[in-house]
Amino acid sequence: AAKFTRALAAIVENRGGKILTGTRIVGIERRKETITKIVTDKGEFLADTYVLCLGAESPVLARKIGLGLPIYPVKGYSMTIPIVDQALAPKLPVIDEHNLVAITPMGDRIRVTATAEFAGYDRSHKPSDFAFMKRVTQDLFPRGIAFDRAEMRACLRPMTPDNLPILGLRDIRNLWLNTGHGHIGWTMAHGSARIVADLIAGRAAPIALDGILPTQARFAEPSAAKA
Ligand SMILES: Cc1cc2nc3c(=O)[nH]c(=O)nc-3n(C[C@H](O)[C@H](O)[C@H](O)COP(=O)(O)OP(=O)(O)OC[C@H]3O[C@@H](n4cnc5c(N)ncnc54)[C@H](O)[C@@H]3O)c2cc1C
Repeated sequence: AAKFTRALAAIVENRGGKILTGTRIVGIERRKETITKIVTDKGEFLADTYVLCLGAESPVLARKIGLGLPIYPVKGYSMTIPIVDQALAPKLPVIDEHNLVAITPMGDRIRVTATAEFAGYDRSHKPSDFAFMKRVTQDLFPRGIAFDRAEMRACLRPMTPDNLPILGLRDIRNLWLNTGHGHIGWTMAHGSARIVADLIAGRAAPIALDGILPTQARFAEPSAAKA
């Protein structure tokens, strides 16, 4: 994903686009049904059209402009571990369906991901959080991988209750939503971007959009009876 994203950024810049990294959005300004500006720690930005795609942070900023999004952070963990002997390492991605651990070879490293935790916006982690996924991986691949040199990370999945992303317009005429991709957003990223780009340009979307548009039903609180 990182390699793809860097290559995509280069294509955008070659075509005259501008990518601003290290720039934090601190506010969105709304007048009635229109976004008027984005306020960042590097200044203000004005556009005709805006796309909200801030992952698990989307509902935090959206709330400030009166837009409630049914997205909740679900924490996951990842370990990236050097391969020291390719002959003993996995050659293909592996999913241990019983333990819900995914192991992906990436050149001279493997990436192991697992766990879904409700921990709010806490991104902290400690070695014991990785003990289970490490044990499962070691059982499958006991040699050839330098477990003592693992890089560890924790990240947040932007989950929706129905497990589908939210794409399209809701209440605000120039704020397009492309968010809420949950545990499978990398897989859906290209399709979602295509759909949102088509909708913004007024073209027909390439697939039926049932279930992924921001309809009232998806935003409604579950009634006591249904719950
Ligand atoms: C452990 C784990 C394993 C996963 N495995 C898979 C998998 O195998 N396959 C798959 O398809 N998906 C997987 N996912 C899910 C996938 O990572 C997400 O669905 C996807 O990253 C969501 O993409 P996004 O662009 O909506 O949000 P993000 O990737 O979270 O991007 C949002 C961006 O907005 C930026 N941002 C947030 N707030 C601000 C702000 N105020 N100002 C400026 N920038 C801001 C963030 O820095 C970030 O760069 C996994 C997730 C986790 C946690």
